[in-house]
Order: sequence, then C-alpha cells, then structure tokens
Amino acid sequence: MTITSYVTSLFSLEGKTALVTGPGTGIGQAIAVGLARAGADIIGTYHHTPLDDTKSLVEQTGRSFHSYQVDFADPKSQQQSVDAMLNSHSIDILINNAGTIKREQAAYYSEEHWHDVMNVNINSLFFLTQKVGQQMLQKGQGKIVNIASLLSFQGGVFVPAYTASKHAVAGLTKAFANEWANHHIQVNAIAPGYIATNNTQAIRDDASRNEEILKRIPAGRWGKPEDLAGAAIFLSSSASDYMNGHILAVDGGWLAR
Ligand code: NAP
Repeated sequence: MTITSYVTSLFSLEGKTALVTGPGTGIGQAIAVGLARAGADIIGTYHHTPLDDTKSLVEQTGRSFHSYQVDFADPKSQQQSVDAMLNSHSIDILINNAGTIKREQAAYYSEEHWHDVMNVNINSLFFLTQKVGQQMLQKGQGKIVNIASLLSFQGGVFVPAYTASKHAVAGLTKAFANEWANHHIQVNAIAPGYIATNNTQAIRDDASRNEEILKRIPAGRWGKPEDLAGAAIFLSSSASDYMNGHILAVDGGWLAR
C-alpha cells in the first residue's frame, strides 16, 4: 500500500454524509468545507445566516450541499425540521457546532438569556443527537463530534450560561459515548481555543482583553476557523475508530499553560 492510499484509507470521508449545524460562518463553515474536501456530502442547518457561500464552497469540492432552516432556540421548530431532514437523508457524521453566547454579569443574568443559551447550546444538542443517534443505531455506525469550549474546563467571566452549557456538552459527550461505543458510534468533542469568529468579535475589539488573551496563548496568535478542520476530519474518519468520549483541545496550547 502506498503512503497516499494508506492515509486515504484512514481519513477519507468518501461516500459519507455529514450534518453540520450552523455552517454559515466561522468554525462551522470551516469544518463543513474541510469535511467536503475529505469527501463527505454536506447538510447544513441555518437560523439567520443564508448558506449560499458555504453551498458554493462545498460544491467547488465536487460534493453536494443541502440546507434546512432550524431555530435551535425553539424546540418545536427543531423537531419538524429534523424529522424532514432524517426522512430524506441517512446521516453518517453529525457535527454539533451551532452555539450562542450572551455576556452579562452573573448577578444580573437574565432568565431570557439563560434559557436562550441553554436551549441552543445543550437542550437542542441533546435532542438532535438523540434523533440522529437513533438512525445511526439502526445502521450500526456513526461519528458524532460536539463543539465544546475551553469553558468546558474553566469558569469564564460574565458568561455563566455559556460555561454551564459547555460543561454539559463535555458531560453529554461522555454519556452518549458510553451508551453507543459498542454500537460502533464514536462520540467525541473538540474544544476550540480562542478562534477569530463573530462569536469573539467583542473581545477582539477590546484592546486590553485582546492583549491579555494573546499573552497567554503559547502559539502567540488567535486561532483561525480552518485550524479546526483537521481535528474534525480525524474525529469523523476511521482514524479515530477507538476514540470514545474524548474532548480534544485545539487551542494553541492555552490549557497546557
Ligand atoms: P459563529 O460564527 O457566530 O457561529 C455560530 C453558529 O451557530 C451560526 O452558524 C449560527 O447560525 C448558529 N446558531 C446560533 N444560534 C442559533 C439558533 N437559535 N438556531 C440555529 N442556529 C443557531 O461563531 P463560532 O465561533 O464559529 O461558533 C461555532 C461554535 O464554536 C459554537 O458552538 C461556539 O460556542 C463554539 N466555540 C467558539 C469559540 C471561538 O473562539 N470562536 C471557542 C470555543 C467554542 P445563524 O448565523 O444562522 O444564526
């Protein structure tokens, strides 16, 4: 076997269909395009951001792209769209990427923000994974990658709901992995470090906070969304068939500090 065919047999996603939530921008878009370049057809969900750019980037790789509108803050809308999706597609890879963050001091954190963040980041993730997982259990195979956070390990400041939700993402990753590992479904997570996306625009715009963060990152720079693609391909491919319930940090060394 040549080096190229050995690497291809480990990492190729040819013939697979990946559902990526929130691939309109940032990390989700980079992962969707990365998976497509590795051979997967892509289904994307959006709430506000049209997926035209992502569709065009995916189609340039020769793979197909379908999209569905889902509001993960609204469980009812989610249920109908997810049923429609699963009736039309057989999902091999699920990337739970959609997420939101609301900044407010814990002492004054509003109930509305709390429920919004919990609905999008953890409640919807659970019910979507449950539904897609049922289909994977019938097929006897699947790959699930949750997008966790450094705040799956640390407390953060002014983002209590986000921190609670991302700790829960890490916990659910292990809980699903334990139940499904012997059905050949690997459930793992990626914990991105500080990545330059819409989500982090506010802290990048704050010069002193930006400097503080950069000083602590051993790699000395913010991550780019494309920095996450390799880990996502790895956790979606047979190269990771004996990995279960792992939270893989891609953080320029932040947690090692
Ligand atoms: P982003 O560009 O703002 O992407 C967030 C995505 O989530 C968007 O595609 C958005 O879709 C979707 N979304 C938000 N609320 C939704 C809702 N109610 N219903 C459906 N979709 C919704 O930010 P990002 O940084 O790439 O974030 C992607 C993931 O990485 C998130 O889970 C985030 O917590 C995580 N993360 C990011 C960082 C970082 O430094 N950037 C670090 C750790 C973890 P629409 O645009 O259509 O609303």
